[in-house]
Amino acid sequence: MLSVVIHSISSNTPIQYIKGVGPALAELLRRKDIYTVQDALYFLPRTYEDREHFKPIAQLTPGQAETSFGTIRRIALVPMKLQRKKILTIAVADSSGTLLLKWFHYNPKYMMTRFKVGMHIVFRGEVKIFKYQKEITHPDLEVIEDTHSTSLHFGRIVPVYSETEGLYQKTIRRILNNVLLQSLNTFTDPLPPEIKERHHLPDLSQSFQEIHFPKHKTSLDLLLNGTHPARRRLVFDEFFFLELGLALKRSQMTQEKGIPFPSSQTFKSQLISSLPFELTPGQKTALLEIEEDLKRPTPMNRLLQGDVGSGKTLVAILSALTVLEHHHQVALMVPTEILAEQHFKTLTTLLSLFNIKISLLTSDMKKNERSLLLDNLKKGEINFIVGTHALIQEDVEFFKLGFVIVDEQHRFGVEQRLVLKQKGFNPHLLVMTATPIPRTLALTVYGDLDISLMQDMPKGRKPIKTKVIHERQRLQLYDFMKKECAKGRQAYVIYPLIEESEKIDLKDATQMAEHLKNIFTSFRVELLHGKMSGEEKKHIMEDFKNKKIHLLVSTTVIEVGIDVPNSTIMVVEHPERFGLSQLHQLRGRIGRGSEMSYCFLLSQYAATEESKIRLKAMEEHLSGFKIAEVDLKLRGPGEFLGTRQSGLPGFRVANLITDTELLIAARSEAFNMVSKDPQLSLPQHQPLKEALRHHWQHKINFINAG
Ligand code: ADP
Ligand code: MG
Repeated sequence: MLSVVIHSISSNTPIQYIKGVGPALAELLRRKDIYTVQDALYFLPRTYEDREHFKPIAQLTPGQAETSFGTIRRIALVPMKLQRKKILTIAVADSSGTLLLKWFHYNPKYMMTRFKVGMHIVFRGEVKIFKYQKEITHPDLEVIEDTHSTSLHFGRIVPVYSETEGLYQKTIRRILNNVLLQSLNTFTDPLPPEIKERHHLPDLSQSFQEIHFPKHKTSLDLLLNGTHPARRRLVFDEFFFLELGLALKRSQMTQEKGIPFPSSQTFKSQLISSLPFELTPGQKTALLEIEEDLKRPTPMNRLLQGDVGSGKTLVAILSALTVLEHHHQVALMVPTEILAEQHFKTLTTLLSLFNIKISLLTSDMKKNERSLLLDNLKKGEINFIVGTHALIQEDVEFFKLGFVIVDEQHRFGVEQRLVLKQKGFNPHLLVMTATPIPRTLALTVYGDLDISLMQDMPKGRKPIKTKVIHERQRLQLYDFMKKECAKGRQAYVIYPLIEESEKIDLKDATQMAEHLKNIFTSFRVELLHGKMSGEEKKHIMEDFKNKKIHLLVSTTVIEVGIDVPNSTIMVVEHPERFGLSQLHQLRGRIGRGSEMSYCFLLSQYAATEESKIRLKAMEEHLSGFKIAEVDLKLRGPGEFLGTRQSGLPGFRVANLITDTELLIAARSEAFNMVSKDPQLSLPQHQPLKEALRHHWQHKINFINAG
């Protein structure tokens, strides 16, 4: 029997199967991360050029980047006055005038063979005037062979792609055109027609076609400002599949069985009445929301978000009481030993009213101490355990783990909180963070969590004064610090410690501590850094907390969580080396008591533009949300979140900052769909389910098999 092999093209088909793509081109395309047909389709134009309506040469505006079209009249090599080199010039003309294209660096042989008098060329670059003549140096050029019939390169709005050595516009356009021709009719559009209608979204293949090769009369403005329907469709898809995955995960989670804990009757009110202050409204609301979750027979998955110093620890402890009252264990995981130590102390003090056994697990414990502790934990003799990453080691077992709390959650990966959760039978989970992410980001990053937001600060806090100062003001600063210390206040001096130059930085910090000891002779100055033993760190923090140390010179080990309300001064050396959120976290160590607090950013040298913006933002804004917004603008969402923590797939088209409206629309459609069809089992949802699987392939397993 005779059989015919037909290569049917799908989005996963390797790019080599596209007409005109041989091994050499495939290799070049790989450099642009294009391996498959789908990668090619998502290789979107960097910009577009209107090659349907050119400005005549006479109308090109000097000082602006312009695109125009003309015929080559003359090619010449012009000697330079003071050098032996020659300049290459090509004169182009249209019916309105002439313009000179100039090269100072070029390959003469290549240029002289490539360009000939009489050729039609499209050129682009910044127009200048030199000796009454319009010119462009080092323009982008394209030879147009055929100006009559409509082509990919002329007589239309033309896509401009990002190039690489050996892979230029015309080739990329030709390949993309072939990709579109060969693949488009094989697509099924997974998005239900109602959704497309509601949001005015074009069909998928039409969108790909349009975004690469826009139709005649398409508005160039829409293409350039990112609001073209074709782009909106692709952005919507990215958000929709993400949100659909999250919605399914959520619906799956509500099927899980957990342990319901009716709210604490006695413990909670006893603790609250022992406090020297009232809970803030934010704390009260958050606590209520958590208690509602704990009562339910499905496990809680909640994020407690509140700026640095808003009092998240207390909310966590109060909610833990409910679980403890019902004889289940609680685990609190934090990113640093110093913070674990601090939380352990706080817990021991606050919970001394009750008969609760609290323990601390860190990685530098002695072997026999550790095994005794693990034994007690397993037998249920420990009720509340605080620890670092040490908690997620395999041999850590619980008797009845009912509640997992993760503090400074942004410091952990998604997997780590899951590992800890798995040590119990679907325990309730509360994660806490001060990283204030704007709402749109929260919707995606924490799309599978419920969010409690505390927007207020405990009463009586005074706004921190922040000032960028310079080296020459150092002595003045010392005088100020001495005065404050004499009033009984304490100060931090922070040194950056960058991994690559750790040794030098550590030496700097050590020298700084020595230097300050010589200056602050009537006060106690100590150094704290991550390389010290757990014992050493513990003693220093204890002495600082007990006001025996006035000035703590430290690396960023104190960046998160540390709470010493009597310290009112934060000096950051080399602040330009820190990111914005890091500076905000550092500043959050002060302003925790009722005294006036001061943050000084000691800028040493001419900083980059970006670091100037960061320092200025610190002076201007106290709110973590404002800081985060600036940070997000400076760094973009990927960097801002760090992919590790977010567990999010990257977006190829969508922009989390500017495409908010589409994100919200996609989210509501996705959640709506899952609420009506929780397994996506309706026949009309099958293409979607398939697309979803494809979308999440190697990412997170959001969908149950089957
Ligand atoms: P964060 O949210 O940054 O983790 P903490 O939990 O460390 O903040 O709390 C900061 C400080 O505020 C602590 O010293 C804590 O005792 C205090 N605090 C917490 N709640 C209140 C409140 N309602 N009124 C006054 N002080 C509070
Ligand atoms: Mg905290």
